[in-house]
Amino acid sequence: MSLSEFGLIERFFASCGASDASLILGVGDDAALLSPPPGRQLALTQDTLVEGVHFLANADPADLGHKALAVNLSDLAAMGAEPAWATLGLTLPRVDAGWLEAFSSGLCALARAVGLTVVGGDTTQGPLAVSIAALGLVPSGAALRRDGARPGDLILVSGTLGDAGLALRLLKAGGSVPQSLARHLHRPQARLALGRALVGRAHAAIDLSDGLAADLRHMLVASGVGATLELERLPLSPEVAASGDWSLPLSAGDDYELCFCLPPEKASLLNELERAGGCRVTQVGRIEALAGLRLRDPAGRPFHLQRQGYEHFT
Ligand code: ADP
Ligand code: MG
Repeated sequence: MSLSEFGLIERFFASCGASDASLILGVGDDAALLSPPPGRQLALTQDTLVEGVHFLANADPADLGHKALAVNLSDLAAMGAEPAWATLGLTLPRVDAGWLEAFSSGLCALARAVGLTVVGGDTTQGPLAVSIAALGLVPSGAALRRDGARPGDLILVSGTLGDAGLALRLLKAGGSVPQSLARHLHRPQARLALGRALVGRAHAAIDLSDGLAADLRHMLVASGVGATLELERLPLSPEVAASGDWSLPLSAGDDYELCFCLPPEKASLLNELERAGGCRVTQVGRIEALAGLRLRDPAGRPFHLQRQGYEHFT
């Protein structure tokens, strides 16, 4: 069966996600019309996944649909925003109805689960790439930002770190990947509930896409502060702990956990945040006035990291 550009949009993406009263006009016109509720600001983010760079050729299309949206949701989570709408830029080498069916099912199931609607997009022919722009809503003036960390703040992270990195390493080596690790790589779960629970409480937040060391540095620079991280505090799965490789939790990337700063008097919120977020929350270090990121190994000695984190063009 051959499908035209418009046929495929209509079939797979015209009703993708949640139904939504603030959506005036969705897929099908020259632009979508949205009516954000009063008292809320829009948080807008975009992430692109390119075959061969962000995912391996022959990636499972349902996983890819899920992940392309999940990485954007992770950015919204880090702002404390609630997902609302998205546009989908899809570049396809060819029209393959089976592939599109699986891709849209992965993407649209996640969209529905988080209450987001796909309101438009763009479809082009070329090497496989997926670019999603997502819009979230946050109470006006209350978004979490990178620039609010202060000396004395506790640095916390959600979940465990390094699982996706280990899964990718095993996959590339042609070995088998334990299911628990593979899920982190293929089906990341954005920490939306935790992000919302941090609004009004955290001084700063960032999501971890390039590795804790690199992403935390972005927060430190934005806030004009420094920090010390205690490696022995890093939350690790048994598999990552057994690897003995600190580069997995520090710089392998693809974690999509949140890293955030709480003033020390809010340390007692930790259990409540774990309950609200449905995930583990672990203190891994402290913000300090002295600029730069310092790492301490379990013996208390300075630790030097070889590779800081993933960067394009380097
Ligand atoms: P235009 O040429 O006016 O920019 P298009 O022909 O590109 O519009 O798209 C037609 C409609 O289909 C628009 O509403 C657009 O937002 C939507 N659309 C295009 N591609 C996608 C896609 N991959 N997913 C969802 N909606 C899409
Ligand atoms: Mg037009």
